[in-house]
Amino acid sequence: MGVIVFIIVVVSISVFLLKQFDKVAGRGPKQIKDGINSSKIVKDDRIQCSECAEMIKPEAKKCRFCGAEVKK
Ligand SMILES: [Zn+2]
Repeated sequence: MGVIVFIIVVVSISVFLLKQFDKVAGRGPKQIKDGINSSKIVKDDRIQCSECAEMIKPEAKKCRFCGAEVKK
């Protein structure tokens, strides 16, 4: 009997944990917030081309969109 009770407890805990995991994983706003944060980091890492206003890498010597020379 003890084994059966143990199995029931383990299954109950597993189901509980799975529900909690689904709750965390299914939280849309948190994922959207993370996406905004990561895109902001990328945006901060780029500089704006003075010719075409596209965001380019600060290491770039020429704009990859319009080919203009990037002044630093
Ligand atoms: Zn450009």
